[in-house]
Amino acid sequence: MRQILIVEDERPIRDMIAMALKRSGFEVREAEDSRAARVQLADRRPDLLLVDWMLPDMSGLELTRLIKREAATCDLPVIMLTARASEGDKVAGLDGGADDYITKPFSPRELLSRINAVLRRGGAAADDESISIGGLTLDRGSHRVTAGQREVELGPTEYRMLEFFMTHPERVYTREQLLDRVWGGNVYVEERTVDVHIRRLRMALEEVALSHLVQTVRGSGYRFSARGADA
Ligand code: CA
Repeated sequence: MRQILIVEDERPIRDMIAMALKRSGFEVREAEDSRAARVQLADRRPDLLLVDWMLPDMSGLELTRLIKREAATCDLPVIMLTARASEGDKVAGLDGGADDYITKPFSPRELLSRINAVLRRGGAAADDESISIGGLTLDRGSHRVTAGQREVELGPTEYRMLEFFMTHPERVYTREQLLDRVWGGNVYVEERTVDVHIRRLRMALEEVALSHLVQTVRGSGYRFSARGADA
């Protein structure tokens, strides 16, 4: 289920949005200010963020800039909500990294159509990007993984796992989270299966001397990182 984090201090508006989203099959999380939003983001990554411009602590614009600057969240789609309707504010919102912009008051129908458009766009745009981290390149268009001139041979699950890791680097994921994100959460797979595929992925990366990129974080799970050794 797609998950949306609503960052809005006004309770009635937050409730209205949450209700509309839940009715459309989204999983909803809520934060009443930027600080709460950052705590939630560190805990679990949503599929999209709805951020109100006017928040009591850090403004929605600053929050969006922060999110877009951090490696773990830079590709997270953000839609900005605001009562300001001037062109200048709209440009500032989009310059700050927001993917779209909705002016209050808006109807739930308008909100949903914008959300769906941004989610579609995000998926399509990211699909044929190539990502390079720590000497390893994953081409999402051709599904090829290379290290310099050498190609890394991966099974389909290892490829999906590596793709997930490389699009979410520098963050620790538990086995449960990896099952959810790599296997889709709706199939029954034991957590030990994750370890099996991590081992296969490392063996394949060992061929090009890059197995150190997949790191074990003792007691927590796994992380893909170009810095630091195994913890
Ligand atoms: Ca507000």
